[in-house]
Amino acid sequence: MTADSAATPASSSPSGSAGEGAHRSDLQHAALSRFAEVYAHDPQGLWSAPGRVNLIGEHTDYNDGFVFPFAINYRTVVALRSRDDQLVRVASAFAPGEVVEASLTDLEPANLHGWSAYPLGVVWALGQFGAPLGELRGVDLFIDSDVPVGAGLSSSAAIECAVAAALTDVWHLDFDRQTLAKVGQLAENKAVGAPTGIMDQSASMLGRPDHGVFLDCRSLDAEVIELGFDAADLELLVMDTRVSHSHATGGYAARRASCEAGAKAMDVSSLRDLSVHDLPRAEEVLDDETFRRVRHILTENQRVLDTVRTLREHGPTAIGELLDASHVSMRDDFEISVPELDLAVEVSRRAGAIGSRMTGGGFGGAAIALVPRARLAEVASAVTAAFAEASFTAPVIFPVTAAGGATRER
Ligand code: ADP
Ligand code: MG
Repeated sequence: MTADSAATPASSSPSGSAGEGAHRSDLQHAALSRFAEVYAHDPQGLWSAPGRVNLIGEHTDYNDGFVFPFAINYRTVVALRSRDDQLVRVASAFAPGEVVEASLTDLEPANLHGWSAYPLGVVWALGQFGAPLGELRGVDLFIDSDVPVGAGLSSSAAIECAVAAALTDVWHLDFDRQTLAKVGQLAENKAVGAPTGIMDQSASMLGRPDHGVFLDCRSLDAEVIELGFDAADLELLVMDTRVSHSHATGGYAARRASCEAGAKAMDVSSLRDLSVHDLPRAEEVLDDETFRRVRHILTENQRVLDTVRTLREHGPTAIGELLDASHVSMRDDFEISVPELDLAVEVSRRAGAIGSRMTGGGFGGAAIALVPRARLAEVASAVTAAFAEASFTAPVIFPVTAAGGATRER
């Protein structure tokens, strides 16, 4: 897949609200005209869904815990036209010249591969949730995106949710947003084969400007909470280390397995059934490594609750310490950081961020820093200089704002 460089925003990417509007409309126009080039007719509509950044609550989602992500001002767009037969055709700006075809009536996760497993997996997953695929008309889809790929900003949820939103509309399906989040997750778990939780799709479906999505991954209750970054003159800076991560393999699956083993040894169905009060018993029952994995999850759940409460009671300038503590826990207890992430966190803090942590699944991807607007340039250049000094690949640094969830654009 050659998407990484194409999809990573240049440091000059628009981020203010005026620039964002213009940029969003450029992306839409590109998708509309590329659709017409690929399929030789015009699309009937255009839908979009955002990537997300996780403010706090890492690896808690698949432990039935709490997460607090927000949808960001980088989006995936889907142009669509219904067909008269049962064929689904998908094309993406990320895979020039390639059009992948499938029939609505014989989609199987095992037959889906590469990038097209995301959109076709969503079609299959809608069927699993009750969409009568055999009675529906096929579609032509063209996908484009400015969500950075593999940076921990969930370009995968953005593509899933944009496709799910588009198909739900044209097929007149009666699925609410939380169900569509589950559809995206099922596609990612079974068609793509990445054992991810429900967080990313929930943020992408439920986001609102200047709000975070506080999600209980057990009940799936979601509450949209005001961030107040704007009024407090704060920006969230994403520092993409360019170290690539992979959810489908390796460390992510190993951490999930540790959490399951920890829950089993503690005799609960999931770590959500435990809280920080259970730590002394966990330390007695578990081996050292499993204990530290479990401690991360239990303390991180508490930090999510504390972040939501702190935002409400004291506003966003008061959440810095919780972000810092989250990073330390991921670095030392969960052991999913890498030197690039640690450096971005340390240097951004020293240069004026009020809190900083790695975000996403770990082993690469991005760190985030909550930064007073006046210190943005200083923080970004300090981190860039430190990476050069350490002979690391130059990071890509850009602010994100909290944006709205999946929607029809035109
Ligand atoms: P991320 O952290 O960005 O979600 P993932 O590895 O989970 O990283 O998902 C990235 C993958 O999703 C890409 O490699 C590609 O297969 C697919 N993808 C995302 N956006 C698009 C797109 N616009 N067009 C085609 N494939 C995409
Ligand atoms: Mg992903």
